[in-house]
Amino acid sequence: MSITVKFLGGAKTVTGSSHLISAGRTEVLLDAGLFQGRRDAFYEINTTFHYNPRTINAMVLSHAHIDHCGNIPNLIKHGLRCKIYTTSATKDLANLMLIDSGKIQEEDVRYVNKINRRINLPMRKPLYTVKEAARATKIFRSISYNQKFCIAKDVSATILDAGHILGSGTVVLDIKVGEKSLRLGYAVDLGRKNLPLLGDPVIPKGLDYLIMETTYGNRLHRPIEEAQSKLREAISRAVRRGGKVLIPSFTLERTQEVIYFLNELLKDKLIPTVPIYVDSPLATNITDLFEYHIDFLNDKTRHAFGKGDNPFELLNLRFIREQKESKALNADRRPMIIIAGSGMCESGRILHHLQNNIEDTRNMVLVVGYMARDTLGRRIVEKNPFVKIFGVEYELNAEVVVINAFSGHADQTELMDFVSKCLPLKRIFLVHGELEQSQALADILIQKGLDVHIPDKDEEVLLN
Ligand SMILES: [Zn+2]
Ligand SMILES: [Zn+2]
Repeated sequence: MSITVKFLGGAKTVTGSSHLISAGRTEVLLDAGLFQGRRDAFYEINTTFHYNPRTINAMVLSHAHIDHCGNIPNLIKHGLRCKIYTTSATKDLANLMLIDSGKIQEEDVRYVNKINRRINLPMRKPLYTVKEAARATKIFRSISYNQKFCIAKDVSATILDAGHILGSGTVVLDIKVGEKSLRLGYAVDLGRKNLPLLGDPVIPKGLDYLIMETTYGNRLHRPIEEAQSKLREAISRAVRRGGKVLIPSFTLERTQEVIYFLNELLKDKLIPTVPIYVDSPLATNITDLFEYHIDFLNDKTRHAFGKGDNPFELLNLRFIREQKESKALNADRRPMIIIAGSGMCESGRILHHLQNNIEDTRNMVLVVGYMARDTLGRRIVEKNPFVKIFGVEYELNAEVVVINAFSGHADQTELMDFVSKCLPLKRIFLVHGELEQSQALADILIQKGLDVHIPDKDEEVLLN
């Protein structure tokens, strides 16, 4: 009986992570992420399965980012009935993220169908609705870090802290079929050392095979500590001239990291005390989960909580849920900091804040995350003189500051360091990266004499 891995998604690209492990008759799925791209490809790729969801015996979910868990409600619609093992923090975060994803899809389909109706094209349906998303986590089972669980016949799983986002895990599968036994590591996504709220990534031991992400296989990050000093400089400058600071931010992890740094700066009186708003119901709910799942935070942050020092409870910080309250900030001309979704300025409340503030030279757009090509965020980073928001052109007069030190993904040095601590390995599979990123890392690993493979989507490989 053979053991194989099939790379269903997130191969030579960053989104849609999903991998099928077959061990004799047992089938285990690692992640079921949404492929993110243009609308037609989105529907085509996310609904085409080169396996039968009904016959999967167990699934392990690495973390709550939508490119890892986003296709689960759709798989359930197509017959997935097994248990999904993950940490309790991931279970709760995935619930929020999936409901949000259902909401975005429902809104998109409403918009497209309005056009399709006019030009007599067939009506579209979302991959899943908010209701279907809300039901998905019922089949989730929480397991603790570092505890080995038998998840299906011949297969056990252990989740180690990946240090990427709250509750994230590097998955270790122990597989034994007949005479054959092996240990497979799945580090997708892999975090960094010294992140403000999280513990460092834990190194799996005794692996035979490793599947590893390569988002930044060819890049080096600035040290995370630099984020705090850059925030201080930028915010002080904008507030001095009476401006507002707009921070478009991903709701999960980045928003909480920014709040953490602002808290540190305020404690040391390194930035002026101005009102801070987190203007996103999703970010507000996610921050509540950070306070609920304290066990998943690093020692320093946990101790701070223990002493009653909650980094998310600043006197001048307000979480905004209501649209009305969000709009009211437009009329308030005082200097302030507004952290709002979405991260790439493609939708959400950041848009009306940009619309109202981007033409004033006193204001600042502070970029703390990745801006993909063809997004409003990227046009702001590139400092286009005019940018379109809700179909209207605005002059981009606000100062634009980019801080590159934030990242939840290991860079080239950190990935190399991780691999070197996992050695010896029979083979390494590089996934979750654009080809140039994976290839650059592969070249270095091959030079060091390692067996490296960059699989194609839907390629199946035998593990000996
Ligand atoms: Zn991730
Ligand atoms: Zn990812």
